[in-house]
Amino acid sequence: MGYNEYELSLPCSAPEAELRAAIARKAKLGDFEYSILLKSLDARHKDRIAWLYRVGVQSPELKDGAAPKAPALEHTRTARGGRVAVAGTGPAGIFAALYLARSGFKVSVLERGSRVDERKAALDAFEAGGPFPAADNYAFGEGGAGTFSDGKLSSRTKGISAEREYLFSEFVAAGAPDEIRYMTHPHVGSDRLYAMTSRLRGALEEAGGSIEFGARVDDIVLSNGKVSALDTTKGRFEADAFVLACGHSSFDTQRMLMKRGVPFRTKNFALGFRAEHEQAAINRAQWGVKSLPGVKAAEYRLTAQSGDTGVYSFCMCPGGTVVPAAAFPEASVVNGKSDYSRAGRWANAAVVAGLSLNALLGEDVSPERALDWLEALERRFKDFAGGWRAPAMTIRDFMAGRSGTVLPPSSYPLGLMSANLAELLPAALVPPLREGLSQFCRKLRGYEDGIILGLESKTSAAIQALRDPEAMTAGYENLYIAGEGSGWSGGIVSSAADGLKAAQALAARF
Ligand SMILES: Cc1cc2nc3c(=O)[nH]c(=O)nc-3n(C[C@H](O)[C@H](O)[C@H](O)COP(=O)(O)OP(=O)(O)OC[C@H]3O[C@@H](n4cnc5c(N)ncnc54)[C@H](O)[C@@H]3O)c2cc1C
Repeated sequence: MGYNEYELSLPCSAPEAELRAAIARKAKLGDFEYSILLKSLDARHKDRIAWLYRVGVQSPELKDGAAPKAPALEHTRTARGGRVAVAGTGPAGIFAALYLARSGFKVSVLERGSRVDERKAALDAFEAGGPFPAADNYAFGEGGAGTFSDGKLSSRTKGISAEREYLFSEFVAAGAPDEIRYMTHPHVGSDRLYAMTSRLRGALEEAGGSIEFGARVDDIVLSNGKVSALDTTKGRFEADAFVLACGHSSFDTQRMLMKRGVPFRTKNFALGFRAEHEQAAINRAQWGVKSLPGVKAAEYRLTAQSGDTGVYSFCMCPGGTVVPAAAFPEASVVNGKSDYSRAGRWANAAVVAGLSLNALLGEDVSPERALDWLEALERRFKDFAGGWRAPAMTIRDFMAGRSGTVLPPSSYPLGLMSANLAELLPAALVPPLREGLSQFCRKLRGYEDGIILGLESKTSAAIQALRDPEAMTAGYENLYIAGEGSGWSGGIVSSAADGLKAAQALAARF
């Protein structure tokens, strides 16, 4: 049995079943098995948009070659039975917990929010005009921040192949489509992620772990220079080691850690707004037509440079909606989500400019002050709207330095409030964001027809835990701060991988 890899393309309207015949023609083989290694859309020529495939083929008709082995994470399982408490059920927390439970640890997970079905019900009620759900919003609750998202699973983080393989096979086992393994821009959508979240809980329970919901970690208990327990709203949880994977919206937890001597530093991050367009307009700009058979909805990734400041689009949600994503009732923050079908009327994406708080404020900004500053900005948007309407304006108005034009309809569920975002955002960010948008308009036809809604402050964390890169611990020898709340990862895949790396370091040590 030999092995070889081939690249080939099929018209995007061709069913995937035609791939086999195309491989047979290209490789001149009759008897073979194949797997797709990579699938990406080639839209360079609008008159012949095609799917590009890279396939691995095994056949007795091939003399040489062997299929490469995927990198795998090993569970060095022992009967050590050490106790680990993990805070947070986002990608970092749940994957750290799963790995540790399967490695023989007794794992208790503590989650401030509720089970995902209760969380969804609370969010639905909020978006229907009900009260803000403090423990179960777009940031908090089972599954973490990305549970109601586009579920994009791409990551540019290097050195996480084995963790990615582990995560993707767990995701597929939990109901993600197999294509996430080979699409260049894989995504699962909010509807599928929601269902996968409870199945991941099932996998953890099967491995012997447990989750305590409504258990917000409010303090760490120290004894002899180590952490001995976590104090939560459900009482004290003692353990031998602790993984805190509370996300980067959990400012209260980060403040508590700093107060207890866990060292953090201020880092560069990015701020801006969400841009929203008609999806059909984005399709036309990218493909030359309103829709393409065999492809869901066009995506875009745009970058611009304004002097020293980078401006870029981020986390695009094709066919999606803009959502009220604040973690706390005093704040107003927007983000985006879409279903697996990406079939909605709108397209949205973050548009953010890079930011150094030290340069902006002209001082060495402490991490506590960085959180104060960010909270004040999120509060400014909320106070301006006086409720949950999102401050918004047209892209044309923002670029022209005016405001007040009547806003077109939007997917945002709680209504828009006409605003001059240039007056709400930090003044230093306005020129680069203006310049960035005007460069985007030159790159994507019709971009100027969209609107922008604020505030988008969650593309990356403003502070980072100082941790021992080998041991992955932060501040105390048995404390692991993992995922986005550590400031060392961003996005579902890299945060899950960070949780898995923390779990491996912990398992190797105990
Ligand atoms: C609306 C939205 C859309 C997004 N879309 C995408 C996307 O398409 N692709 C992508 O890669 N990323 C996306 N992201 C970002 C992604 O969700 C995060 O990068 C990722 O979830 C971070 O994982 P994490 O486990 O580190 O933290 P989180 O997912 O934030 O999880 C933290 C968990 O800890 C819990 N918690 C917090 N504080 C405490 C405490 N004190 N005690 C106990 N529990 C606590 C929270 O309730 C939460 O469950 C999106 C985010 C949002 C909000």
